[in-house]
Amino acid sequence: MKLERVELFLVRLPLKRPYETSMAVETHESHVLVRVESGGAAGWGESVANEIPWYSGETPATVWTILEDVLVPQLLKADIAHPREVSRMCAWVRDDPMAKAAIEMAIWDLAAKREGVPLSRFIGGTRERIPCGVAIGIHASVDALMPRIEEELAGGYQRVKLKIKPGKDVAVAEAVRARFPELPFMLDANSAYSLADAPVFERIDATRPTMIEQPLAHDDMIDHADLAKRIRTPICLDESIRHAEDARKAIQIGATRIVNIKAGRVGGLAEAIRVHDTCRERGIPVWCGGMLEMGIGRAHNVHLASLPGFSLPGDVAASSRYFATEIIGEPFTVEKDGTMRVPTGPGIGVSVLEGTIRKVALRHAELR
Ligand code: MG
Repeated sequence: MKLERVELFLVRLPLKRPYETSMAVETHESHVLVRVESGGAAGWGESVANEIPWYSGETPATVWTILEDVLVPQLLKADIAHPREVSRMCAWVRDDPMAKAAIEMAIWDLAAKREGVPLSRFIGGTRERIPCGVAIGIHASVDALMPRIEEELAGGYQRVKLKIKPGKDVAVAEAVRARFPELPFMLDANSAYSLADAPVFERIDATRPTMIEQPLAHDDMIDHADLAKRIRTPICLDESIRHAEDARKAIQIGATRIVNIKAGRVGGLAEAIRVHDTCRERGIPVWCGGMLEMGIGRAHNVHLASLPGFSLPGDVAASSRYFATEIIGEPFTVEKDGTMRVPTGPGIGVSVLEGTIRKVALRHAELR
């Protein structure tokens, strides 16, 4: 397959509610959308880099530059036998997994559309519905948080994930457990702690969260393995797992018992599938993380989460929670039983609202 035309769009949408994590408060999402065209079909991808580099070093500006100057010119010249080859072709670029993922996933969508099959089936997915969970940002007070949790549970979500940071951790976990004695909840620290904070997590143990996500440094595994020996709550790594080799090593040293998979973080779908397979061979459950995706990235997540190892509810929630403006024609919704349907049309299986994207894009480039 030869790519004939690649377009980049920078789209910035306001969030319905500001989203606070241990590192930043986000009020808007700016994502680079990628459209690839070949043989009369088009595929779409979405970069998950944040406006400010708090989660990783990538931003929409770095993604744009790497795509426009490096990856797109290379891939326009290439003959692509299968989308799984793209990550190998781009591997010489040392970093920039979110830039790589944006175009790699567009090529997967395009290839699945040319085959006439849903992306989920194309990558070996087995689920028709995926279990959904929701991530809730840090709130000003425990009192302000409780109605938000109730609202999300009423919406059908099977688990809630609460962001924590130093000073807003043990009290949050204790209040949630007191109010909801049986609720499966998990905590995400986004690397806000060090091993010296182990007593915080020992106290959190008593509140029985299902897991604690990325408590320690974003590039650490060793201290996570030490912390894991001191607490009962399973540790789930997110930021530390950059590829399948990281997953293998983290599991081997006992740094993680669950893995959060984000295709954007690991450079695309092929590597996400390798992380999934690495975990599955070792009996480690995985779930699909979220990066406040717009409709295109959300669709890719839903297809990825149809793989058999995604046995835990992920951060895949309804689009309407986040944005007033939709860029796809069939926004994702959560059913009463807390699941979401995997689209059955070809590729990502949703119609991309190209007119809206072209109208709201702050920046556009076309490469042939
Ligand atoms: Mg996380």
